[in-house]
Amino acid sequence: MRISAIDAFHLRAPLERPFGFSQFDYSQREAMLVRVSADAGLAGWGEAYGPAALTLAAVRDFFGPLLIGRDPRDTEALWALLYARSIDYGRKGALIAALSAIDIALWDIKAQAAGTPLYRLLGGAAAESIECYATGFYFGGGEPLEQRWEREARGYLEAGFRAMKMKVGQGIERDAELTAALRGVIGPDIKLAIDANHAYTPVEAVRLARKVEPYDIHWFEEPVSPLDPDAYLEVKRAVSVPLAGGECEYTRFGFEKWFRKRALDYAQPDICSCGGITEAMKIAALASLTSIHVTPHAWGSAVGQAAALHFYAARPRQPFTLTPERKLIECDRTENPFRTKIVDKPIRFESGRWFLPETPGLGVTPRPELFADYLAAG
Ligand code: CA
Repeated sequence: MRISAIDAFHLRAPLERPFGFSQFDYSQREAMLVRVSADAGLAGWGEAYGPAALTLAAVRDFFGPLLIGRDPRDTEALWALLYARSIDYGRKGALIAALSAIDIALWDIKAQAAGTPLYRLLGGAAAESIECYATGFYFGGGEPLEQRWEREARGYLEAGFRAMKMKVGQGIERDAELTAALRGVIGPDIKLAIDANHAYTPVEAVRLARKVEPYDIHWFEEPVSPLDPDAYLEVKRAVSVPLAGGECEYTRFGFEKWFRKRALDYAQPDICSCGGITEAMKIAALASLTSIHVTPHAWGSAVGQAAALHFYAARPRQPFTLTPERKLIECDRTENPFRTKIVDKPIRFESGRWFLPETPGLGVTPRPELFADYLAAG
């Protein structure tokens, strides 16, 4: 089997209701999808997280031409080739996200060629579905957040979610007020995580964590800078709230120091930027040397969501126990047409759970004819 073509698509959709978080506001959603075509009519899809114009150029002009004529099933060798060719300039950021998109597409082809859903090639799944947590509760929107978030929370509860994640980063007092208000709305039985997107110093993060400790916080995500694992340790040693992070980290070479220092309780590589399936498996293997649980960050289209789902389904919880903590996968609920409108069939979602696709490969297939309204380049 040989790779005959690599196409990259930059999709863009303006948002009906812009929203913000601790770093900036969103007025549009973007996606960069890659299609790797092989002979025998097979095609695999992947996605890159991050600035789509940059990752598209990296696929189209830099990585793609290196792969023509290669066997798409040689995932390990091709990852090593692309990493070696970019190591002098890359190692993190958009180049690794572009590599991730290609790698996911190669695994999609490999699983299709094997006639099996991807998760089986990655170790197999212990259950047919995984519980989702709803990612939402962003800032902005022109009405009091308490009011909008209450409506939002009731919608998630109706959809069957039993776990949710809210944004913090508006100042410690305001964050604590909003956390208390949301806990009041959802009651004591729903898991609630908070996410600062690295808005705080360790001293500030500790102060906030102590204020929200009474509200049973499932994890505090990106409390401090992703450049400073020791800052995480300062927070971790001062509070009982578990810490999560890793969506800004890349490859096993990046994650290794976080694991060695035990700076996290939950590591959150994004399959669409950490180096793809090939690298996420290695990151998970490194994490298995520690007590750190790997749970993927996922904020992309149906393709990125499917990649995260297959990967996570095949990862066991550790340590083994008859009463393990529930595995929770991120389910972004912010406005994004690329989760549903560009694929023939989105991932099946029911009662707050995603069901593993049983068709060969990723199990979601983008249709370029559905891209027309969104195509910025490609
Ligand atoms: Ca996050």
